[in-house]
Amino acid sequence: MFDYIIIGGGSAGCALAARLSEDPAVNVALLEAGPADKSVLIHCPAGLALLAKSGDANWQFETTAQPGLNGRKGYQPRGKVMGGSSSVNAMIYARGHRADYDHWAAEGNAGWGYDDVLPYFKRSEHNERGADTFHGTGGPLNVKDLTTPNRFGPIFVKAGQQAGFPVNTDFNGPEQEGVGMYQVTHKNGERFSAAKAYVAPNLSRTNLHVITGAHTTRILFEQKRAVGVEYQHEGHVKQLKASREVLLCAGALQSPQILMLSGVGARADLLKNGIAVVHDLPGVGQNLHDHVDVVQVVHAPQAKELFGISLSGLVSAVKGIFEWRKYRTGMLTTNFAEAGGFIKSQPQEAIPDLQLHFVIGKLVDHGRKTVFGHGYSCHVCLLRPLSRGSVRLASKDPLAAPLIDPNFLGDRDDMDRLIQGFKIMRNILSQPSLAGFHGKESPKSAGATTDLQIEQFIRDNADTIYHPVGTCRMGSGPMDVVDAQLRVHGLQGLRVVDASIMPRVVGGNTNAPVIMIAEKAADMIRAAAVKN
Ligand SMILES: Cc1cc2nc3c(=O)[nH]c(=O)nc-3n(C[C@H](O)[C@H](O)[C@H](O)COP(=O)(O)OP(=O)(O)OC[C@H]3O[C@@H](n4cnc5c(N)ncnc54)[C@H](O)[C@@H]3O)c2cc1C
Repeated sequence: MFDYIIIGGGSAGCALAARLSEDPAVNVALLEAGPADKSVLIHCPAGLALLAKSGDANWQFETTAQPGLNGRKGYQPRGKVMGGSSSVNAMIYARGHRADYDHWAAEGNAGWGYDDVLPYFKRSEHNERGADTFHGTGGPLNVKDLTTPNRFGPIFVKAGQQAGFPVNTDFNGPEQEGVGMYQVTHKNGERFSAAKAYVAPNLSRTNLHVITGAHTTRILFEQKRAVGVEYQHEGHVKQLKASREVLLCAGALQSPQILMLSGVGARADLLKNGIAVVHDLPGVGQNLHDHVDVVQVVHAPQAKELFGISLSGLVSAVKGIFEWRKYRTGMLTTNFAEAGGFIKSQPQEAIPDLQLHFVIGKLVDHGRKTVFGHGYSCHVCLLRPLSRGSVRLASKDPLAAPLIDPNFLGDRDDMDRLIQGFKIMRNILSQPSLAGFHGKESPKSAGATTDLQIEQFIRDNADTIYHPVGTCRMGSGPMDVVDAQLRVHGLQGLRVVDASIMPRVVGGNTNAPVIMIAEKAADMIRAAAVKN
């Protein structure tokens, strides 16, 4: 019997496990479907390039056919390993805009405004730049500037400046807007996932039990109270009991799936799949949305200091491997998306509605397609899409992938903003700072000059930039799944704590916000335990 059972050892699950097990009197079990994070590809930042292609630490989901993408299916990588998606992500440290959290609070979620959540961001953080009004030191999550930045990041920033954007040295400071270099979740030249930050230092705690290779198949209920979980482990079906709470942290695609498999969801859908209804909660799996994104690729064969497959690229990579192994410095400390920015599609926008990620290599199909030669790429993504989709069950088989339908570009406004974003990005890439490298826009996009042609290019090429959220939405309406304490409506002993609770996606990358959510949840859970 455990006090708390945490399902999913990702960004949220790791942070929650560490915080709850700080009290030696509390017993915590953390169940992760994937393996321990032993692969060097996880710890070496540039290993990211290979993780996209490998199924070892990655669920490698795909979406349903997307009408907004001309019927194509999108790719949805998700970490399947200790650390979850923080073990396979691009390591950018970003929090979104102050207005995102104030919006959550204004929607009726007391305690989630920016001033409420800032202390949790700071508590989680150890920023090597030092502490200030916006940043913390001494927290578990190491944040720093890149160890060995590529020359092209600052060149891109200069191009952004030449295109009229302010340079921003801290996207998580007083002002988000502008172009600049990203800070990353690294330490000593290695990836610093949530597992490394929160779980690894605490593995000696006798009250923290981490079980890897444990695929939760359902939550166990006694009437309306969650009392434990059933999971598959080494070919056996096993059960664990929780005396206080079950904490669901399986991420935006799988937390709703686990709820539905356990009988919590829209009654008709559950019955259709042959699942007995524990609680009719129609919002489970609804409100899926994600940052839809499109990439422009530029061929720059002479710019050999960029990542690329060539003879000189190979020589540099070999040198890079030796350097990283010996000193934890050099080109392999890259997160590839080294620079970027937060910009407005129209000057009259109140806050940035687009994000740029400048990549020091040619990126095609999420890095799954091998491309030869050197060059660079730039992503533009839409920060607050209006399109909403869903996660549904494909079947009652707990090991089957769910049906993921983000409904990309389902709303016309999303397309209009992305077209605008594509034009702004192309303008930045054509500035004098980059022109000296004689880059040539990939013929795939170069022909798209009118709005209609750009729209076509977007429909043929856009996809996620990996921030699905919203499927167990926090709120107090009939389609909301959890309350502002993250307790599942209508049930006892069960909370959801991960990206799925976001009512609306934040305007930025989602790892730090999810860790903040877990930090805050830990306090709420501890406070509830004291009360009872
Ligand atoms: C390729 C990629 C790049 C990204 N880049 C960035 C970036 O640069 N910066 C940033 O801030 N964000 C980035 N993100 C997003 C960010 O990493 C995620 O939003 C965040 O990690 C989500 O945290 P989570 O706890 O909600 O889910 P996850 O971290 O995905 O954790 C869910 C965990 O639950 C486990 N699980 C699922 N089902 C079960 C089950 N049935 N039983 C047991 N365990 C289960 C999973 O294996 C996983 O470990 C990226 C994501 C990806 C995939």
